[in-house]
Amino acid sequence: MVNSRTGTYDSLEELARQVISLTGEDPNREGLKETPKRVAKTYKELLSGYEMDPSHEITMFDSNGFNELVSVTEIDFYSLCEHHMLPFFGKVHIGYVPDKKILGLSKFSRIVDIYSRRLQTQENLTKQIFDLLENKLSPKGLIVSIEARHLCVRMRGVKEKGSSTKTTIKNGILLKRRDFADQFFIDSHLKVIS
Ligand code: ZN
Repeated sequence: MVNSRTGTYDSLEELARQVISLTGEDPNREGLKETPKRVAKTYKELLSGYEMDPSHEITMFDSNGFNELVSVTEIDFYSLCEHHMLPFFGKVHIGYVPDKKILGLSKFSRIVDIYSRRLQTQENLTKQIFDLLENKLSPKGLIVSIEARHLCVRMRGVKEKGSSTKTTIKNGILLKRRDFADQFFIDSHLKVIS
């Protein structure tokens, strides 16, 4: 199978074989023989978001005058940090007050999934989700909040085992109406997975 952007499947497999060799391991020993193939397949899956356009996932409906807060919370995501290519993962919470349009509920997790399956920073992931929803829905107010654990922080260096990172962007009526913002934080109860 050939990936036009990242080169061939085979070259990823070969690269994984080289990494194994460079550690001093024998890539031909029983337990490792099939590993390069599995690694190539895994990375292809984890980075499959480049082959998809999240704006194609936007299916909108008329809001029929609904202009209260809609919260879609605790959307699981798994991504790879662009600095270390190690996983970071957690929950995405999205809240918006529609103007004329609402988004099909299943689409939120689809959008999160596509952006997550790329090399990312948490900040950029937050902004990409926010910008897409802002551009397509033009809601009265929007908030996107992500809480995540970064394995590059937990496994390496200072090993900050307990820390989590939270990023939030909001605009419009969510900056002015405290009751909407409060409701969002109650809905998302911003718990961090451990
Ligand atoms: Zn990192």
